[in-house]
Amino acid sequence: MSEKPFRSGFVSIIGRPNVGKSTLLNRILGDKIAITSDKPQTTRNRIQGIRNMPDAQIIFIDTPGIHHAKSSLNKYMVETALASLKGVDAILFLVEADSTSAGREEPVLEALKDAEAPVFLVFNKIDLVKKEVLLELTGSFARLHDFREIVPVSALTGDGVERLVELVGMSLPEGPCYFPDDILTDLPERFIVAEIIREKVFRMTRDEIPYSVAVTVDSFKERRDGGLISISATINVERDSQKGIIIGKKGDMLKKIGIQARKDIEVLLDSKVFLELFVRVSRDWSGSKKMLKEFGYE
Ligand code: GDP
Ligand code: MG
Repeated sequence: MSEKPFRSGFVSIIGRPNVGKSTLLNRILGDKIAITSDKPQTTRNRIQGIRNMPDAQIIFIDTPGIHHAKSSLNKYMVETALASLKGVDAILFLVEADSTSAGREEPVLEALKDAEAPVFLVFNKIDLVKKEVLLELTGSFARLHDFREIVPVSALTGDGVERLVELVGMSLPEGPCYFPDDILTDLPERFIVAEIIREKVFRMTRDEIPYSVAVTVDSFKERRDGGLISISATINVERDSQKGIIIGKKGDMLKKIGIQARKDIEVLLDSKVFLELFVRVSRDWSGSKKMLKEFGYE
């Protein structure tokens, strides 16, 4: 008996404004997770959300570098298509099912010709159109590109969405579960948050604390309504005496560290932040390979 392979990969969703990209993403991610935001990100792909399934993990990423595009809509679409060619395992190209012509999408499809990743054509808003219209549209788009699949959905009602998710999941390469299934936002931000906390520890404890402090971000959750990001982190030290210094008299040092760190993190994330800090003695962690790895030093 052979086990079903685990599949994982990065997927981008492209399409004109208003075709329903955000609605579809929210539908796919469900209520538990929600990480859609328009914060600009210059250097990396931004993870918008992760959908975990029993045998696959789909990581949806935003296409980089286009948030401030001041170009025309067509140029923007082509740029998005081109940007999403790199480093993704599948592309979802979203089109409104009542769109009157396939012709206007030709520049995008031209750009997508170079994609190595499979392109899924997703007709959205099928709750608004008649079957015949959909069939006709399917015919005219199919002539323009060799899509992996053409999938009609309604992001609003959920119709067809799970089938789409299944098809995309199955198209991904075999791969690891990149992220633990409770993480829900991007690693670069977690990493920067840890660095901010570490910097405050050094700055505020002066010379009392040597460089044997590692900060781990244990959870990072953005509330669906976007009102607050809730972060909990652990400051790992090597000795009880260091723990005492960091906590301070009646906890006032830890409180100060928390307040200062929170201020910077709020600026970084452009959001209100609830920050919870713990201090843990991990004896001689800097000499332990396993712990170094756990703390991200490898
Ligand atoms: P985006 O600009 O591509 O992210 O589009 P949004 O997700 O913001 O959706 C634009 C508008 O289309 C919103 O008013 C959505 O409620 C609506 N919408 C999205 N999907 C559907 C759908 O499947 N059916 C209908 N009727 N409306 C939809
Ligand atoms: Mg949107």
